[in-house]
Amino acid sequence: MNHSNIVGGSTAKRVMNCPGSVALVQKMPPQPSNKYADEGTLLHNVIAEIVMTDKHPEEFLHTKYNDQVLTLDLIDNKLVPALAALDVIDPNKEMEIEAETRVGFGDLLPDVFGSTDLIGRIGSRAVVLDWKFGDGVAVEVEENPQLMFYAAAAMRTEETKWAFKDVEEIEMVIVQPPQVKRWVTTPARIAQFEKDLVKAVKLAQQPNAELKIGDHCRWCAAKPICPQMTGAVDRALKTSIDGLDAPTISAYLKNADMLEQWITDLRALALQMLDSGARLPEYKLVAKRAIRQWTDEDKAKVALFAFGLTESEVMETSIISPAKAEKALKKRKQALPDDLVVAISSGNTLASADDPRPEVMILGKQLTAALSKLQ
Ligand code: SF4
Repeated sequence: MNHSNIVGGSTAKRVMNCPGSVALVQKMPPQPSNKYADEGTLLHNVIAEIVMTDKHPEEFLHTKYNDQVLTLDLIDNKLVPALAALDVIDPNKEMEIEAETRVGFGDLLPDVFGSTDLIGRIGSRAVVLDWKFGDGVAVEVEENPQLMFYAAAAMRTEETKWAFKDVEEIEMVIVQPPQVKRWVTTPARIAQFEKDLVKAVKLAQQPNAELKIGDHCRWCAAKPICPQMTGAVDRALKTSIDGLDAPTISAYLKNADMLEQWITDLRALALQMLDSGARLPEYKLVAKRAIRQWTDEDKAKVALFAFGLTESEVMETSIISPAKAEKALKKRKQALPDDLVVAISSGNTLASADDPRPEVMILGKQLTAALSKLQ
C-alpha cells in the first residue's frame, strides 16, 4: 500500500480539520490515476535517483512511468530547475541526504505513514524537502501540514531519525519550479503538531466524528457523498435569489468554489461507477460525439485532387501559437520579441478580493458608448 488510508502527508490538513472525513473517504472507490499524477510520479522517481547517485538528468531521458515518458522538455523545465534549487539550499554540497523514504509513527499511530521526497542535514539544521511538479495551485510552505507530518514521522523512523538528532532548527522547503519556498521551524513546533495529529486520528476513530467544511475539502475524495456538501447543495438549490443583498451574494460566492468542486467530483465518481459496470438509475454511458477522420490522409488527398479541388482548397496551414513559438525559440536560446505579440483578455471573470490580479475598472455605459464611436 502506497498511502495510509487513515492519514498521510498530503491528507494531514484534511484529517486535522475534518476528522470525520477519514471514514467517508474509506467508503470511496480508489481514485484512478491520471496523466498528471503519473507524470508527477515519474519526475519524483527520477529526481530521487539523481540525488542519490549523482547521475546526470539526461541519462534518464525516455524513462517511462505508465504512459508518461521523460522528455527533454520535462528535464529542462522541471528537473533542472528543481535540482538548481538544491544548490541554493546546500551551496557547499555538505548536506547528507536520504531520498524517497517511507516514514511512520510506529506504535504511536499504527498504519499512519507517508513517503518523504528528501530528508537532509546540514550542521545543526535538519531539512525536509518536497518537490511539487504540478503547474496548478501554488503551495505555501509556512505551517504546511504535509511537511510537518513528514518531519514528525521522519523523527520516529529508523532510516531518517539521524537527520534530527539534537538539531536546533528544522528547515521546510517546497520546490515548485521555478519557485523555492523555505520556512525554518523548531523541534518543539513539530512535537506540538504531532500531538494535534494524534488527537485528530483519535477523533477520526470515533463513530460520528465531526465533519467540517473548509478549504481542506478541495482534494477530499468523499465530496460526492459528504453530508456537509450535499446539505450545502440542497440549501443552494432551495434558496431564491430574489431580494438577496450584496453581502449575502458575496457569502454565497465563497461556497460556489466548493460546490463546483463537489459537482466535478460527483460527475467523475458517477463516470467511474458506470465505467466499472455499476448501474445508476436514470443515467447511462454513451459514446461522445464522433468526429470524422480520414482513414488514410494520403489517399484522401489524391482522391480530392482527382475531383478537381485545388491545393489551397485541400490543404490548410496556420501559424503556431506564441506559446509554441516561445518554446521552440527557447530551445535555440533565442527570445520571442515582445512587439510580435499582444495579450488580449477574452473578458472579465470573478475573483475573490485577495486575488493578486488588479481589479478591472468598469467604465460607465455612456462613456463606453462614447469611446466606441472614437474607434
Ligand atoms: S468534503 Fe469536506 S466536510 Fe466533507 S468529508 Fe471531505 S473534508 Fe470533510
